[in-house]
Parts: sequence; structure tokens; C-alpha cells
Amino acid sequence: MHKIDIDLIEMTLDVMKFAIGRISATEHPIGKPKKYEELKALVGETVTENGVGGEYAFNLWKEHLSKANVPVDHPRNLAFVPAAPTRAAIMFDLVTSASSIHGAYWMEGAGGIFCENEAMSWIVSLTGLPKGAFGVFTSGGTAANLSAIVTAREHWREDETYSREKGLIITSIGAHSSIKAMAKVADVDILLVDSEEELTGDDLRKTIDKLNFHQRKRLFAVVATGGTTNAGIIDDLDGIAEVCEKENIWFHVDAAYGGGALAADSVRPLFNGIERADSITIDPHKWMFSPYDCGAVIYKDPELAKNAHSQQGSYLDIFKDEGAHGFNPTDYQIQLTRRVRGLPLWFSLATHGTDQYKKSVERGIELAQIAGRLIDENPNVELVREPSLSCVLYRRIGWKPEDYTHWTYENHEKGFALVTPTKWKNGDTFETVSRFCFINPDTTEKDIQMILESMN
Ligand SMILES: *Cc1c(COP(=O)(O)O)cnc(C)c1O
Repeated sequence: MHKIDIDLIEMTLDVMKFAIGRISATEHPIGKPKKYEELKALVGETVTENGVGGEYAFNLWKEHLSKANVPVDHPRNLAFVPAAPTRAAIMFDLVTSASSIHGAYWMEGAGGIFCENEAMSWIVSLTGLPKGAFGVFTSGGTAANLSAIVTAREHWREDETYSREKGLIITSIGAHSSIKAMAKVADVDILLVDSEEELTGDDLRKTIDKLNFHQRKRLFAVVATGGTTNAGIIDDLDGIAEVCEKENIWFHVDAAYGGGALAADSVRPLFNGIERADSITIDPHKWMFSPYDCGAVIYKDPELAKNAHSQQGSYLDIFKDEGAHGFNPTDYQIQLTRRVRGLPLWFSLATHGTDQYKKSVERGIELAQIAGRLIDENPNVELVREPSLSCVLYRRIGWKPEDYTHWTYENHEKGFALVTPTKWKNGDTFETVSRFCFINPDTTEKDIQMILESMN
């Protein structure tokens, strides 16, 4: 299994050929899932006592299984938060896999972690956090949010007064579902401000003023969103920071989706106040063109994260060589063994330079503005709200929820586009509307035009 023979050489070439084909393709199918039963009928048993052989298995992958995915980098895949990893980043993902680097400790992954940290320094510089702030790459925004919440809670509980209290955090209903999910994991309660529009310092102030004595005692963190996943709305970060500082509460900004836009001069002022955060989540696998999976958590004071997350690696103490001592990514988030998942981002940044990142993010914002204009010009559709970051919410006049579902299905079935509806809170009811989220700079005005025309 670990030996080299001619079959292995051939397989290496086949796999590389496949990867080259995918990386250099300018067009590829939008992809469609199949039922488990259908896939099983197509491929049969693949994991057997004697193995079916690499060539056979790889053919099944090429013929059937690879086609049952919906790749996120299709220019007319505008659903959820799509992605568009750069070719340089994808290539270095292959290098990362081939290199067997354990990315938990500097001792084993110094070269890889060095590269990750170069990329991280750039991301941290975008936030404007004070000197000393730093971060680490995680599996995604969910793990980043959890790592931040746990750091905040452990720091809060260092004070005897709170050491036996169950924590409480405040966020808004615009916050991502992972905040609620991770609050559960960390066993903290969550209080939701009931507005999907921008959460302001005033809203927060009023919410805190309404807490009873014990609730106020339990409140240890506020989670603001730097670009809501549904609508691209950025909370009033400065106003919220003000309240958090006065109240001595941890201020976390979840910019998993929106964080890439910190690089875009046209919208950067909307994030003012983010430099006052205690922790920030940014997903390079969303708007920094990194392949999955790559999230990031950044701390104003990384020592606090270390206090919360460091696992005792006493076996490491034997390493005398100075080169073995350095930044240990495991100390700052929940995971021990990890791939150096920031490495593809580093290679892409090094290859293209940060100006290209700026331009590619600006293009997503521009596409949202273009879509807004095309919607204004089209009598069949209207904006639900002005485009924000790269999200556009709009309605097809006269459509019921099932019309949107049907339209999404038809477009996907035809292999034309994937645009999914969402819900938008309108007073007390939730309206079903259509939503674009732009990430891929290869999406064109014509693509948007065609999608809108398909609603006629
Ligand atoms: C996508 C997203 C998350 C979750 O990130 P994953 O990488 O999917 O774990 C969290 N918060 C926001 C605002 C997001 O957009």
C-alpha cells in the first residue's frame, strides 16, 4: 500500500491530469446532486476486502461521482455564499496535501506555519487591530466563532464573581446560525435582538438596560456581524464597541462572509469600529478566494486565547533546538492536529499580490451594484433593499414562495444557474424573496441579465 510501482506512477499522472483539467477549465457544468440510491446503483460496492483498484475507482469518480456535486465556483452559482478559489491557491492545496505537515506545532510545521502567519499578518492589518493582535486559521467560521466565544467565556470566568455563572451573549437575528449553534456547544445562553437590519449601539444599550440584575451579571459578550450572510448588512461596529467598552463586555465581530471586503476601499469605512473588537472571525474560503476549508479567528490579545485553548504538550519540552520553538496554532483555537490550511492562501497572495485581492473583492461589490441597476430597469422585479456588500435581495412582482422554488429548480435542472430564494423579515412576517451573492469575479453582467430574464 505504501510502495511505489508502475501502477502508482500511472495513477499519479492520471490524478494530476484530472487536477490540471479542473484548474485550467474555463467552463464546467453547474452540477447536480443525485439520490444516494441512484449513486449506489451507478457505482456499486467500492470498499471491499480486496479493493476495486485505483483505476476503476477513479473512473467511477470521473464518470459519476464528481458530477453529483455542485461546485461553488461556477459563475452563475450565486446561492448561499459561493466561492471562487484562485488557481494558485488550488495548486498549493495539492502541495499542502502532498507535504504531510502537522500544523499544530511550530516544531513540526515551522515552514508551513511561517507562510500561514505571513498571510495572517496581512489579514490582521486589514482589521486595524492594535499591535500584538494576531490570529490563526481554522476549519471555518463556525470553529472560529466557537474558539472566540470560549476564549471570551474563559477570560470572563477568571473573575471569581462569575466562575460559577452560566454565560449570556447578545447578538441579533441577522447573526449567522453558527452563533446559536456554538453558544449551545459552549453552553451559554443567547439573547437575540429582533431585527435583521443593522444592530446599533442604541439597540444594544436598550437591550442591556432591560436585563434583570442576574442576566446583566451573566452577560459577557456581544456578537456583531460584519456582513450578514443573508443580506450583507454590517452592524454599527463603532456604536457597539462603545457600549461594550463602557460595560466591560467582550466584543466579537463575525465577519466570516464580509471580512474579505475589508480589503475593498469602497466599503472599508462601513467596518469602522472593527479595530476595537476583542476577536474577529473571517473566512478566507468565502471572499478571500481560498479553497475549503479555511476560516480564521483573530484576537486583540492572543494570550487570552492561549489561556483558554492551549493543550499541554509536555512531550514537546524535549526539543532544545531554538528553531523548534515558535508560534503553535493549536494554542489559539479548538483543534489540535490540523493541516496548514492557510498555506494555499499564502501562495496565492504571494503570487498575485494584495492589490489583485482588492480588485477581485471590489468586483463582487460592483456586480451587486450592477444587479441593483438591472433590477431597477426591469419592470418585473424590484429591490427589497439596496444591495449591501455583494448581496442583493429582490422580489419578482406577483410571485408566491412556490414560484421561486420552481424557478430555482428549473434553472438548476437546465444546468443554467443556481440562485436560491431566501426569507426576509418584513414587519412580523417573513417574505420569500430572491437573493444573489457575488464572489466570483468571472460572473458577468450578461449572466445577471440572463438570470433576471429567466424570471419573465
Ligand atoms: C458562513 C458564515 C459562518 C459559518 O462559517 P463556516 O465557514 O461555514 O463554518 C459564520 N458566520 C457568518 C457571518 C457566515 O457568513
